[in-house]
Amino acid sequence: MTVPAKPHAVSVTSPMGAPPGADLRGWLDHLQARQRLAIAHPGVDLRFGVAGVANRLDGTRASFFPSPSGHDVPVVSGLLSQRGWMAEAMGVSENELISTFEAACQEPVPWRETTTAVCQQVVHQEVDLERILPIPTHNEHDSGGYITAGLLISRQRSTGAQNVSIHRLQVNAANRLGALLLPRHTFAFFQEREEQGEDLEVAVVIGVDPLTLMASQAIVPIGQDELEISSALRGAPLPVVKCQTNDVRVPADAEIVIEGRLLANRREPEGPFGEFPQYYGVRAERHVIEVDRVTHRKQPIYHTIVGGGLEHLLLGGIPREASFLAYLRRSFPCVHDLHLSRGGVCRYHLFVQVDSPKPGEVKNVILGALATHYDIKHVTVVNTDVNVHDPAEVEWAVATRFQADRDLVVITGTQGSKLDPSADDGVGAKLGFDATVPPQAPP
Ligand code: MN
Repeated sequence: MTVPAKPHAVSVTSPMGAPPGADLRGWLDHLQARQRLAIAHPGVDLRFGVAGVANRLDGTRASFFPSPSGHDVPVVSGLLSQRGWMAEAMGVSENELISTFEAACQEPVPWRETTTAVCQQVVHQEVDLERILPIPTHNEHDSGGYITAGLLISRQRSTGAQNVSIHRLQVNAANRLGALLLPRHTFAFFQEREEQGEDLEVAVVIGVDPLTLMASQAIVPIGQDELEISSALRGAPLPVVKCQTNDVRVPADAEIVIEGRLLANRREPEGPFGEFPQYYGVRAERHVIEVDRVTHRKQPIYHTIVGGGLEHLLLGGIPREASFLAYLRRSFPCVHDLHLSRGGVCRYHLFVQVDSPKPGEVKNVILGALATHYDIKHVTVVNTDVNVHDPAEVEWAVATRFQADRDLVVITGTQGSKLDPSADDGVGAKLGFDATVPPQAPP
């Protein structure tokens, strides 16, 4: 294939015996050897062309684009677009996927710092983002090019704790990115600095291995560095390197690193952008990153995620399922399994399976489930005879075991997803269906 360098020629830090997803280039070879990587003809258009091809192959093959729009740097998309691929990347079977991920969240492994890193082989002190990187435009009404698979890593100055999360990043200027920060950890780190009138130092890392990509989506407490979950998933400390212009530590084997600062007291228009619920997020004044430097491998590979595709939905969904299951089991021993459905964009609809709940306990499970994450909007609880991973079976349980006057829970005025177009700037209602067999029902 046309991946410019073989993984093991340049990646001396990958541990032997690591799962296939521990290395991006190794993973691409793995996919290619199984006819799951489509190589496009050179020159596919960065404007809509890359997204169009990637969408067509969504859930069947990853896609690799040599010289997109004539750019030197190739683009890849669809690295993890099936549950089974995620399990394979982790080196486990599909039914061990959730438990293995959750174990890594519970027992993170510190990273290992190195001083020489392939992600710093080439250094750009003069930054012109669209000249250095092939940044695609995915949707007709997007405001322009967006970085969609960049891990935003920030560091809390008082504690040295890091946070990793993915944010959509609009190209505002040659050295400025617009960022959508939802009210979670990056936002909290930034707020702390902005109150002092100071910028928050960050790095945006593009082209990481599949395990680090999955780790970035873990729902873990603030202060827990998601890179340590990547270490746990690979069974060895993840090699990291300090950025050249700030103290943020980034995966040493990454393809591309954008170093910069989230600017205090600065907002610029961002959007519209086609988001995961299959709607456009509107244009508004949003946060700004000023870029100080770009470093990358020799002949780097640029990763893009197409909004609303399976890679996007599952990357958010699977780590959430793992976190939510562990969280609910702490309070409710009856919780057996759960599923974030694709129709609910792997975010908003949670199906929970319970085994012999006590009287009234299902309602408590609904309340607990609605509180796990603000994105959870509708919860449906079923018994263990219903396959929670099959939406048709869940609907059958609602059809035959649910009565709205008895089994419905509605809570108004709650915090929800700002990307849900039916909510009022993220504030809306939550709903629970108790679709379990009523305790007094005849067998
Ligand atoms: Mn976090």
